[in-house]
Amino acid sequence: MKSFRLASPAAIEIHPLRLEDLPVPEPGPGQVRIRISACGVCHTDLHTVEGDIHPSHLPVTPGHQVVGVIDQIPVSPDVGAPKSGDFGFRVGQRVGVPWLHSADGTCEFCQRGQENLCPNAKFTGFDVDGGYAEYMLADARYVLTLPEKITDEQAAPLLCAGIVGYRSLKLADIQPGERVGLFGFGAAAHLSIQVLTHWGCRVHAFTRSQAHQDHARELGAVWAGDAAEGTAGALDRVVIFAPAGELVPVALEKIRPGGTVAVNAIHTSDIPSFPYAILWGERTLRSVANATYQDGVEFLMLAAEIGIRSTVKPYALAEANQALEDMKHSRFNGEAVLMMDS
Ligand SMILES: [Zn+2]
Ligand SMILES: [Zn+2]
Repeated sequence: MKSFRLASPAAIEIHPLRLEDLPVPEPGPGQVRIRISACGVCHTDLHTVEGDIHPSHLPVTPGHQVVGVIDQIPVSPDVGAPKSGDFGFRVGQRVGVPWLHSADGTCEFCQRGQENLCPNAKFTGFDVDGGYAEYMLADARYVLTLPEKITDEQAAPLLCAGIVGYRSLKLADIQPGERVGLFGFGAAAHLSIQVLTHWGCRVHAFTRSQAHQDHARELGAVWAGDAAEGTAGALDRVVIFAPAGELVPVALEKIRPGGTVAVNAIHTSDIPSFPYAILWGERTLRSVANATYQDGVEFLMLAAEIGIRSTVKPYALAEANQALEDMKHSRFNGEAVLMMDS
């Protein structure tokens, strides 16, 4: 099978991912094998490829917004070992694989329903091979079923940009009708805004890119402009999607007392020091780390119910390096999706 491998991280402009021909992997107990049809391209993949964050081993195949069809479920010879069929999956079923590949299920975080914080969690396309390939293996406990009416291409961005974006909205304490700022208007923000408008929120989009500002207005933002603009204290909540620490004090200045700033970024540049006065007044600053299985289930139901539309820029699998480079330089709106048949 064709599979993109990252052996040595480097700037995306030199196209560090190599296309290789690998044997189709064999699923073990508790796993399913998926024939991949589409895989979304996430900023986390770029951080991995460029060496900002470090996978547990190299080489690795990136990609953690994977849509495909289950093509093999093993019959486990081990007495007592979980069989993928035990999770209700069948061969031929269309599924999605998100960023959280697996967790231990036993630690204090897993017990609290916060498996996104599990110290033994494994992540798709990072600790285990992901979806920039024709086939992959997934842990059946964390595979998501997809609503029928959402196409493969449309579903891929929902699996990380959508789900982690949705968790960010929850952790930002957003109430219906509030004034919400989104900093950065890429893949996650363009999906989150559709949830926010459904909740009756008034969305302000902060981004340097004119094309992204226009995209935000098309999707219902009441205002779009540069982060330097906007009125101090005019917002209830902010979610920062851009990996830029200098935006944290800028965002804190824009929220009212009692407001919240949530940072949706697995990696960000350092946050500069800032006066206590802009945190004072019971303002909350927090990060958002990964997402739980339940976040995935809830968000996919909501996406189908309110008809969330992903703005997609399709690429062939062979164009993975180019897709990552174009994302880095904001050359398209929404999300790049690798389509395996094209
Ligand atoms: Zn755990
Ligand atoms: Zn992601």
